[in-house]
Amino acid sequence: MLFSEDKISEIIEKNGIVDVISEYMSLKRSGGNYSALCPFHSEKTPSFSVSQSKQMFYCFGCGTGGNVITFIQKIERIDFIAAVKLLAERAGVQLEEDKDPKQQERARLQKALYKVNTEAARFFYSNINAAPKALEYLKRRGLSDTIIKKFGLGFAPDKWHELIDFMKRKGISSGLLYKAGLIAKNKDEERYYDKFRNRIMFPIIDLKGNVIAFGGRVMDDSRPKYLNSPETPVFSKGYNIYGLNFVKKVQNLENIIVVEGYMDAIALHQFGVENAVASLGTAFTENQAKLLKRFSNEIIISYDSDLAGQTATMKGLSILEKEGCIVKVLSLPSGKDPDEYIRKEGADAFRERIRKSVSLIEYKIETLKKGLDVGNIQDRIKFTKGFSEVLKDVVSNVEVDAYIKKYSGIMQVNEAALYAEQNRLRDKNKSGNNKHNILNNKKTELELKKGEIIAEIYLLNICIYYFEKAKNIFVVIEPTDFSNDIHIKLAGIIQRFARAGKIITAGEIISFFENDDEKSRVAEIFSYKLPDLEIDMLAKSSLEKVKQSRVDRKIQKMTEEMNEMYHSGEKEEANRIFVEIKELQKRKR
Ligand SMILES: [Zn+2]
Repeated sequence: MLFSEDKISEIIEKNGIVDVISEYMSLKRSGGNYSALCPFHSEKTPSFSVSQSKQMFYCFGCGTGGNVITFIQKIERIDFIAAVKLLAERAGVQLEEDKDPKQQERARLQKALYKVNTEAARFFYSNINAAPKALEYLKRRGLSDTIIKKFGLGFAPDKWHELIDFMKRKGISSGLLYKAGLIAKNKDEERYYDKFRNRIMFPIIDLKGNVIAFGGRVMDDSRPKYLNSPETPVFSKGYNIYGLNFVKKVQNLENIIVVEGYMDAIALHQFGVENAVASLGTAFTENQAKLLKRFSNEIIISYDSDLAGQTATMKGLSILEKEGCIVKVLSLPSGKDPDEYIRKEGADAFRERIRKSVSLIEYKIETLKKGLDVGNIQDRIKFTKGFSEVLKDVVSNVEVDAYIKKYSGIMQVNEAALYAEQNRLRDKNKSGNNKHNILNNKKTELELKKGEIIAEIYLLNICIYYFEKAKNIFVVIEPTDFSNDIHIKLAGIIQRFARAGKIITAGEIISFFENDDEKSRVAEIFSYKLPDLEIDMLAKSSLEKVKQSRVDRKIQKMTEEMNEMYHSGEKEEANRIFVEIKELQKRKR
């Protein structure tokens, strides 16, 4: 581990899990725990549970669980090290690594750039009222003063040194402005000049509220239509989504609508559609998908209906789908973008379009259908093939039936032919797709060993709830008496802490596990509800069961050994083992 055990403990201790999670979502008290709708899977009734006393969370729906660090990793989509750093900063814990001068230098520069960008945003915003043509442009697009202020829209004057001079008066050097991407150098690299001129300015704000970059749009037909900040130490393309800082504050967010341009997103907000964001260009990235999924599982894409828009939509859809989002497509009449549409048709009409947005499958089928002629045999064959390819990933048979019924009619293809093609593809895929089987097998194995495993889980929970009992428990049994690797490791950690007389919470124990599945499994173990029994009695019977299982395992192992000896002709040895087995069985009773 990169950080010391004590450092991790301190960070977990100082970042109360209930406080931290409350910063991301609203938790409801229920009994001794807190519950909420799970942010990691889509659900209607809350199965996400947070325990103050154990300092951990666990979702009974999707099985995701862990401690406060795991939560930050998952919700912020960052790695362990970044999560530890974030929490250390939040709680004011000094990390060894902070002393790295390079890191410190970078942090200082970032801080300075945020400040420069904020000043620049103020400068642009203060210009807007003195620039009648910019103001008129925004008003013509239906934007109110309130929305202009909310998005901090501004204006970059049609001059070469306005921003540079403004910043000079504030004591901000041109060197820093250059690093912020706000000014450029002339050809011979001797003089600086304002990069954004005669443009409407859109500040891009990250989730923490920092101004990280700008987009500038012309008000006429001059080129380029949009000019964006270059990559800087605070801005990387493909890592941000415009407007998400507002959307993240929306209560009971059902879905997020992704549009192409700044103006589209702002226009939707103006009309009360407050779950709209812009992807900052059409090249949708994996990082953007991850970012969106942190806030909603259902993503509705509404790109332009032209060919470029369609290709972009398809690409964006598959990236989002790969991240496990429920993806839908909102189509508008051809040639219309969301901004234009909502201004002309109104918010209700747009909401109706949202309601009618189609699933990824349907969108794929519709796109496939475009340009095909039902009267042409070749086209019908092409459709059948493509259609089956799209449908083969659909898990539900009811859904498959519905699509086949619908499209066999529309495309005049025989239903039986569609089913036959479907079955052919599924058979071909069967061998490769045994994920479900593996899960099922795991479950039956668990069922078989249920009694033994549950006894171990009870003991582990007793150790955490009643820490003083842990020491005694591990006098009677050893961690290696447990039946599987995770239990053995957990018991080992608890034993070590008990011997040292140190109390450990479930949340801290989780930090000893490295992979996500193990962390979730540990959280699951510590969310078992102990039965309503006197605790010493429960401990005693669980210990009995664990000891018994240990003997059972030993007997089984010896039986195998005995058989081997017997078959290899060493009958005497086999007999000796047989007597031992008898002895063990007698003791068990
Ligand atoms: Zn869940």
